[in-house]
Amino acid sequence: MHFTSTDLIKWAPAPEAQFTGRAWFGPMAEPDDSSEAVVLGVVFEPNARTNWHSHPGGQVLYCVSGYGLVANDGGERTAMTAGDTVQIPPGELHWHGAAFDAPMTHLSITVGDPTEWTDRQVTDDEYRGA
Ligand code: MN
Repeated sequence: MHFTSTDLIKWAPAPEAQFTGRAWFGPMAEPDDSSEAVVLGVVFEPNARTNWHSHPGGQVLYCVSGYGLVANDGGERTAMTAGDTVQIPPGELHWHGAAFDAPMTHLSITVGDPTEWTDRQVTDDEYRGA
């Protein structure tokens, strides 16, 4: 068992190359090898979102607080708020982030090979669902 109290989680800025706006990563579980889940808390400021990306082994997002958005390249789009869960299938190109007027925190649970990031930022039109 490994207990980490809330004040000891090592929050750090999310990589600028992979995000629009400001976000933070808080590692909750770091695997010893790639077969284990990576569990991160992710805090997004209003208007912040990931670049387009995919996860070879899929991903589960669990919204802890705030109000956020998730969309894929198939045109599906959903809001998420505290207690909501979104399952991203392996390989699906998608993004997630806060709403334009509210912050959002989610847990991300990712398994398998590392996330495949693109350098495609989510445009303002994509973000607004225009
Ligand atoms: Mn993702």
